[in-house]
Amino acid sequence: MTKGKIGVSTQDLFPIIKKFLYSDHEIFLRELVSNAVDATQKLKTLASSGVFKGSTEGLRVTVKADKKAGTLTISDQGIGMTAEEVEKYINQIAFSGAEEFLKKYKDAGNAIIGHFGLGFYSAFMVSSKVEIFSRSYQEGAKAVHWSCEGTTDYEMEECDKAERGTDVVLHLTKEDEEFAGEEKIQYLLKKYCRFLPVEIICGKEKEWKDGKYEDIDKDLIINDTHPAWTRKPSELKEEDYLSFYHDLYPAAPDPLFHIHLNVDYPFTLTGILYFPKISSRLELQKNKIQLYCNQVYVTDTVEGIVPEYLTLLHGVIDSPDIPLNVSRSYLQSDRNVKKISNHITKKVADSLADLFKNKRSDFESKWDDLKIFVQYGILTDEKFAERAMEFYLFKNTDGKYFSLDEYKKVIADLQTDKDKKLVFLYASKVDSEYSYIQAAKAKGYDVLVMDGVFDTPFVNFMEQKNPDFRFTRVDSDVIDKLIPKEEAKIVSLSQQEQDDLRGIFNAQLPKDGGMYMVSFEALGEEADPVLITRSEFMRRMKDMAEINPEMGFYGKMGDQFNLVVNTDHRLVKELLASEKEALGGEMQPLMQQKADLQKQKDDINALNKDVKPEDVPASDKDRIADLDRQLADLGKKERDLLGRYGADNKVVGQLIDLALLSNGLLKGEALHKFLKRSVDLIK
Ligand code: ADP
Repeated sequence: MTKGKIGVSTQDLFPIIKKFLYSDHEIFLRELVSNAVDATQKLKTLASSGVFKGSTEGLRVTVKADKKAGTLTISDQGIGMTAEEVEKYINQIAFSGAEEFLKKYKDAGNAIIGHFGLGFYSAFMVSSKVEIFSRSYQEGAKAVHWSCEGTTDYEMEECDKAERGTDVVLHLTKEDEEFAGEEKIQYLLKKYCRFLPVEIICGKEKEWKDGKYEDIDKDLIINDTHPAWTRKPSELKEEDYLSFYHDLYPAAPDPLFHIHLNVDYPFTLTGILYFPKISSRLELQKNKIQLYCNQVYVTDTVEGIVPEYLTLLHGVIDSPDIPLNVSRSYLQSDRNVKKISNHITKKVADSLADLFKNKRSDFESKWDDLKIFVQYGILTDEKFAERAMEFYLFKNTDGKYFSLDEYKKVIADLQTDKDKKLVFLYASKVDSEYSYIQAAKAKGYDVLVMDGVFDTPFVNFMEQKNPDFRFTRVDSDVIDKLIPKEEAKIVSLSQQEQDDLRGIFNAQLPKDGGMYMVSFEALGEEADPVLITRSEFMRRMKDMAEINPEMGFYGKMGDQFNLVVNTDHRLVKELLASEKEALGGEMQPLMQQKADLQKQKDDINALNKDVKPEDVPASDKDRIADLDRQLADLGKKERDLLGRYGADNKVVGQLIDLALLSNGLLKGEALHKFLKRSVDLIK
């Protein structure tokens, strides 16, 4: 027997490592099984070069959990190790790796990312003692037994081991005895080793018998040794991609389409990415891209490796060129990682462009689901944004799809305004903006549907990139002003008449649910008498605030609406006429008085025209203040009069309610009153 000291100077290596990696104890299993798989693969390589002459059929790795003994054994039939090799690879190399690790990360604490290639050494995270029984493939090699109890001392001696290969036996600590449970190990193997290239056996398959599950005489194979991404695209059918997807995400609906990645220069990358069909936000968070390194599962946190918007995709990426033992921030500056990320972006853009070009109807049928990814990409990745303009689709309210170039042609004639800007009209709720859409269509305009979460920022983005575009929602203005072609028609009402109508309408405007401003437009006799519009700017700011907390100020503001009164409409003219008739007797003297007071004020002001404000005589100032008070009183009387008249006026109520109704804004009690009033009016 040989006793020796492991070449590590730090006495406290073990406890520190344990503490560091506490949250990720379970990765020891991945490390040891990977070693076993490597040893098996090495033997196959030796066989193919003729160095090893025996059979390499059916080589497998067996993991055995023994609860009673508190041990876990990982056995392989690979190349094995001679005593010299154990000395070299385990005592020197494996442990020096650990020392290096410590040096590097002594002060890093939490900065270490969870997955660290600690190799063989990680066995000590869960064991009080580790034993190796190994016999090399070399002819005449003697089997060797090595053991170490988690200190820097080890023992090594010859032993009996008939079979070629290595058994690593872990004597688990009390705290980690859960790893002697077969179910726990099966679960972990499923997580880390599902796609390893050598069969991994753990326990027996089970069958439902007499009300419980019982082992049957068939080894349970954990892994699929040839997962889809490792095969050539030409060998795979659509069903294979689908079934692989469902293996990865059992509960998810069929994906929209897939991209098979396969690069071997200047870096190695394989994988399959899927565009998922998103039916709930929950799925977005639950199902993620999985990162593998030579078929060994590493993580499902791929931020920094794939561009942010593509983290929403599903599938698998496998690359030995992604450094795993570094922090996230380092990862993002790594050149290989950047190349990989760029490659993935390019591939995704290529595939989308290809679908657009060669399978247009298929692409259109998937577009509603794809749009969210494409928009997210456009908004966050400049390179992708450039490419995406080739295949980005605009959908109109008739369900037709257009590329940007196609759509520009559709709207060029009718939707260019007097400033030569191309005006894109859109609706965000086709139902509640129905009457505006109809009005726009009647003018020969086309209306897009923009009802997605990213549509508002997307519209902002498009306007920034294209100064000659303008997007405006169909309800943002009266139809003639949506796409102004010439100066608008002048309203023929006098200021006083406008004030009268404003007073009357104010009396019945909704008191809550937003702020309403009455304005006047000459829209023609055929247009609606009263309309409600929402300023594009304010509405967009509010929409942005919903997805961008920094704009919370706009979010807190109430909705703002314009109640536009069409001064050309017969009902409006009649309303004004009957108001004049009904209130004329009372209004006339008020108006007269108002005019007198105003004249007195104007006279005083005219006298002091060239006098500095501070030099105006006190008596004049007092007089003006007094006149203002009287004018305010008169104003109030006037408003009260109009208000009383307006409040009782059924036509006013009906016109406002109809405008609210066509915007989906009439609800609850107000709707009830409207219905009753409507019946009264036809009775
Ligand atoms: P790494 O695998 O990263 O080289 P490890 O600490 O896991 O580091 O292992 C050190 C070395 O020990 C391996 O490179 C290999 O030569 C040897 N080794 C470990 N496990 C086995 C095994 N099951 N069979 C044969 N050799 C092994």
